[in-house]
Amino acid sequence: MPKTVLILGGGMGGVVAANVLKRAAGADVHVVVVDRNEEYHFAGMYPMLLIGERNPRRITRRLSHLARKGIEFVRADVREIDTAKRLLVTGKRELTYDYLVMSPGVEFHPEEIQGFSECAFNVYAFEDVVRAASRVALFKQGQIVLFVPGPCLRFPPGPYEFILQLDQFFRQKGMRDRVSLSLVTVEQRPIPHAGQAVGQSVERMLHQRGIQIHTGIRVVKVEPEALVTEDGGRISGDLFLGIAPQRAPSIIRSTGLEDADGWAKVDPSTLETACPGVYAIGDAAGIRMPASGEYAPKAGIFAHYQAEVVTRNIARQLRGKGRSFLYTGKGALMVFSGYGTARYSSIRYFQNPPLFTLLRPTRAAYWTKLAFEKYWLSRWF
Ligand SMILES: Cc1cc2nc3c(=O)[nH]c(=O)nc-3n(C[C@H](O)[C@H](O)[C@H](O)COP(=O)(O)OP(=O)(O)OC[C@H]3O[C@@H](n4cnc5c(N)ncnc54)[C@H](O)[C@@H]3O)c2cc1C
Repeated sequence: MPKTVLILGGGMGGVVAANVLKRAAGADVHVVVVDRNEEYHFAGMYPMLLIGERNPRRITRRLSHLARKGIEFVRADVREIDTAKRLLVTGKRELTYDYLVMSPGVEFHPEEIQGFSECAFNVYAFEDVVRAASRVALFKQGQIVLFVPGPCLRFPPGPYEFILQLDQFFRQKGMRDRVSLSLVTVEQRPIPHAGQAVGQSVERMLHQRGIQIHTGIRVVKVEPEALVTEDGGRISGDLFLGIAPQRAPSIIRSTGLEDADGWAKVDPSTLETACPGVYAIGDAAGIRMPASGEYAPKAGIFAHYQAEVVTRNIARQLRGKGRSFLYTGKGALMVFSGYGTARYSSIRYFQNPPLFTLLRPTRAAYWTKLAFEKYWLSRWF
């Protein structure tokens, strides 16, 4: 009788976990992915979607296509996880498991900033990027302001990718002199955990492109024509793009396996929670950097490696063997920097001090990023 492994979340972590496990354990396992959405969207290309260099269809895949790999997909909103009875409670039915891999990502809470939903677009959410892209395409002149009102835990370089791609877009259209671009962030410098040198190099790049940056400023309200800051200041604009406040997914709280901030508490090497056979991977895992005790940055590349570690270990356990794979907190990613270039970044966050590099923009990094998109969307679906 095959064991059932439920994977909560058909995002980056969940999709890799399902594929790797099915391939490693074959007929010994029944893999089920549960997600409230029917479709997966590749977030790494949202900056390209914003400027019309991708269309929504190209970066979307149906989760039901996982059936071609022998993976069952159940579309359901998981309301509760009962680890004592080993089941997920959904709006439709209960799903039981032998092993559970939770990869529910982060939750966005635009309602925490008054006026956000009415007057701004959350460019970290697919539907909002699609709507914002139509506004950008028709934008003739004025001020575009991108604001980051809280710590950007998911993919911290993201806000800089968007603003640099917008700079490219308006320059190529010969309109840059009519469009002012600025970025307002609560963070004291760009990508704060990556250190001063990385932050300064990002700021330099923004200055070279004529993009204003305002650091250490908390936006508390969005009005149709202005952002209102904590100290009562006003920043005017014609189009507001924001990153909505990010929180731990509420479903993790139903498990009793969360830390004080609601992220899943895991062994950082195995991603196992305090409940044997229950794992948390990806953005929902509350992994801290040993050197500072701060949460480690969240990115798809880490979700991917964590998925590999967890599922390869589950496959071994199904064959009666012990675990042998450990997560190491290493990864590399490319950050879009406009004009067909990207910056290669290498990260080792378990190291003391942690390593964060951000190399100069190159075409090679850009093409690597595009190749990764192609690989990702064809490899796993
Ligand atoms: C603009 C942008 C650019 C990025 N670029 C990069 C990049 O270049 N490189 C990189 O490494 N990372 C990048 N990332 C980060 C990357 O997308 C995330 O880190 C990654 O998606 C996290 O994977 P995950 O599985 O934890 O969560 P997700 O991919 O968000 O998946 C979570 C899934 O769980 C589902 N879910 C949640 N709760 C429930 C529930 N209760 N019931 C049912 N389903 C539920 C959701 O519907 C969702 O499908 C980028 C992110 C953004 C926004």
